[in-house]
Amino acid sequence: MKIFISKKIPKAATDLLKHHGHIVSMYDKEDEISVQDLIDQCQKNEALLFSGKNKLDADFFKSCSHLKAIALMSVGYDNVGVDIAATYTIPVSNTPGVLSKATSDIAFLLMLAVSRNAFMMHRFIADDQWSLANRSENLGIELYGKTLGIFGMGRIGYELAKKAKGVYDMNIIYHSRSQKPELEKELHAMYVDFDKLVCESDVISVHSNLSEETEGIFDSEVFRKMKNSAIFINTARGGIHNEKDLITALKQQQIWGAGLDVTDPEPMQSDNPLLKMRNVAVLPHIGSATTETREAMAIMAAENLIAIAEGKKMPQQIIPD
Ligand code: NAP
Repeated sequence: MKIFISKKIPKAATDLLKHHGHIVSMYDKEDEISVQDLIDQCQKNEALLFSGKNKLDADFFKSCSHLKAIALMSVGYDNVGVDIAATYTIPVSNTPGVLSKATSDIAFLLMLAVSRNAFMMHRFIADDQWSLANRSENLGIELYGKTLGIFGMGRIGYELAKKAKGVYDMNIIYHSRSQKPELEKELHAMYVDFDKLVCESDVISVHSNLSEETEGIFDSEVFRKMKNSAIFINTARGGIHNEKDLITALKQQQIWGAGLDVTDPEPMQSDNPLLKMRNVAVLPHIGSATTETREAMAIMAAENLIAIAEGKKMPQQIIPD
């Protein structure tokens, strides 16, 4: 097949595609390809290996209805009109599992960094204010034995819960669409309704996918119900929290701190008040950004396209299932 790759990916994956006889072209600049260039390139090719923030919407699919398959190099697919792809019978796959450990590491890192004011301390030193670091109002809080509430107990939520249990013996509560009896046994975790999760957690970590149901679910009403000492972590999608309401909740000390790997919008502007706030740590969507994980994701995406070319279903096919 002639395959277009929308972003620079590890060589191991392009080598694998070439080894299977595919002709590969790639947008290899560091910035994001424009929508029009993406469409133009797809029109010259038969399949797309897609990574990036562009929306694959109705206009995209109308222009690229000839595609034999789209292999996403991500687990989230909220930026892809999978229902529209289905109407054109274009199969779409993602890369679940291989990024769960790396992404849960970032949630863990943020939880710890916020609890000990790590980013704020770094700023004090950079601003020549070392003496502020040890003031009593700038003490951290400990995680040992505290309650971690997971919103969306899927693959990444499970990996974080396991780490938090092992390292800090945290008490795990969670809310998901469905209950997970095996995991409850393994981690002594408890399923709770959304309200209880919000009211009882010392740390809430968001791991659901972004959907109509979850968009903006963490809003002013929810932040008001959280403990004043609570930490809010989001490594899933920025759209799941209302960023203005989060800023207000932090300013009014309704919650203690926040750690974000995902923001709304992305990129976050440098004058965003969150970046100046105490007890806030922001990262630029780097959940899966390790050499090992990105290579595993790229290979998985390549294997999905190889399967299609061989007349098989993609192993990680989202639609049609
Ligand atoms: P997953 O295994 O599908 O887990 C998602 C979980 O969310 C599931 O447990 C699901 O519940 C739950 N959920 C969905 N809708 C819900 C709702 N309305 N209320 C409560 N729970 C809900 O996905 P994953 O692999 O863990 O990935 C999770 C998300 O992380 C992805 O969608 C992606 O957006 C994000 N992500 C971010 C990065 C990053 O770089 N920061 C990297 C990878 C992924 P059920 O199990 O009951 O269905």
